[in-house]
Amino acid sequence: MKIITSIVVAALAWCCTADAAQTPISHQETLRGSITPERAWWDLRHYHLSVNVDPAKKTINGTNVMKYVVLSESKRLQVELQAPMILDKVTQDGQTLVVEQDGYSYFIKLTKPHIIGREYQLTMHFGGAPQVAKNPPWDGGITWQEDSNGLPFIASSNQGNGASIWWPNKDHPYDEPNDGALISVEVPEHLTDVSNGRLIGVDKHPKRHTKTFHWQVINPINNYGISLNIGDYVHFGEQYQGESGLLDMDYYVLRDNLAKAKVQFKDAKRTIQAFEHWFGPYPFYEDSFKLIEVPYLGMEHQSSVTYGNGYKNGYKGRDLSQTGWGLKFDFIIVHESGHEWFANNITDKDVADMWIHESFTNYSEGLFLEYHYSKAAGSEYIRGMRAGISNKTPIIGTYDANRSGSGDMYNKGGNMLHTIRQIVDNDSLWRDILRGLNRDFRHQVVTTEQIEGYISKKSNKDLSSVFDQYLRDHRLPMLEYFVKDKVIKVRWSNAIDSFAMPIKVTIDGIARWITPTTGWQTIKNDITNPSFSVNKDFYVASLNILGQ
Ligand SMILES: [Zn+2]
Repeated sequence: MKIITSIVVAALAWCCTADAAQTPISHQETLRGSITPERAWWDLRHYHLSVNVDPAKKTINGTNVMKYVVLSESKRLQVELQAPMILDKVTQDGQTLVVEQDGYSYFIKLTKPHIIGREYQLTMHFGGAPQVAKNPPWDGGITWQEDSNGLPFIASSNQGNGASIWWPNKDHPYDEPNDGALISVEVPEHLTDVSNGRLIGVDKHPKRHTKTFHWQVINPINNYGISLNIGDYVHFGEQYQGESGLLDMDYYVLRDNLAKAKVQFKDAKRTIQAFEHWFGPYPFYEDSFKLIEVPYLGMEHQSSVTYGNGYKNGYKGRDLSQTGWGLKFDFIIVHESGHEWFANNITDKDVADMWIHESFTNYSEGLFLEYHYSKAAGSEYIRGMRAGISNKTPIIGTYDANRSGSGDMYNKGGNMLHTIRQIVDNDSLWRDILRGLNRDFRHQVVTTEQIEGYISKKSNKDLSSVFDQYLRDHRLPMLEYFVKDKVIKVRWSNAIDSFAMPIKVTIDGIARWITPTTGWQTIKNDITNPSFSVNKDFYVASLNILGQ
């Protein structure tokens, strides 16, 4: 998802301010954010989420049949479901199991013997009136609205809050259901539900005046991506001849918006085209690609990207980069679809590493422009986004506590990647690295260390101090310099002690590389008073300390 202003950042339930980062980690945060013994012993394989949605009562009731494989000696099994939703009962082979509640974590006591390596399943029965989204998608839950014809228009959004805000699941990003999910949603018969993956069947229930839509995802899916979207939808679609064959692209929009959508959604194909070039094949051909209109801004729900940007270019009609380039595309289509590669294909193992989702996707907006317009357009856009950087708290959050880092994971993270591209100084190698990440970590959860190590190894450059500076420290490094009597001296300040990033500078009109450290370093020079400037594509500050 995308955040833009400090006001919005402040409203983020999951985004750390300096104060929040120092708040002691609560018991509930540890249960939610760490790989507890009650999670570690089993590997999630599949969800069959089956719910009835009642727009009049604003309730959701149903079951989640969860399959899992035993990895080690079985213990109690932990799942989450947030109040006011109620976990009514849990059954296995017809037996009702004892469940202990601790906040919104539930510990299920298993009775049948569990053999290591074997697959089991249990059924969670649940229901209630889930939290109504206060400020979706940032402070999410369920949005219950009506369209302009007075018909229900309903959607889930829960990235920060967690999927357990409306259905019971293993609410931690490290474990995705390897075999995907089946999502069955029963709605009033005049409405349509669109969830993730492909529609494999619709059951009619004439007596209840309802229909059940069955959506199947066969790839691993992050649980915050699983969504329901209900409305008076109309459908149109197209196919794209992409790197892995024919990609089905389907669009679901409110009846009255069909004409507008047919124009605006042309950006979907342009997006897939640009990102297949930069990142490799769309990661979920089997599950198709969809854009679905929703009553909030948008979200990267896997294989069913949700859209609420008002059929306008830019971010609700605005250019976040203030360069003009941001109005060349629909921000939500490009940004949220970019997440299919970074967030859905490659997922963070801990939300502290959410920069892996947002920094690359922020950066992808510039790559979209580069592909369709020019390299200069992409660079200008990325530099323009610097105005939205705070440099107050680190990008990486707190591990094992369900705490993501600062909102700088967007614009600063994107600029860090743009800076690293300058250091790599080889565009085809840089593209190979971006494609390689998506190939070698395909459908996996990863850590920051894995991404850092991969980029350093493939570029054959030790980027560790660069990542440490931009991800683990909040400061913007400053290149201090002065020129005196045929000598130029440079050093990094406002940086970690080990910071030694190479940078391209221009001395008297000639571009050259230097590798300053945090100690003064002399650059040989033959001219008495040469001009000195720093390449603008590096996100750093610079200062002539003599004020010349
Ligand atoms: Zn995003």
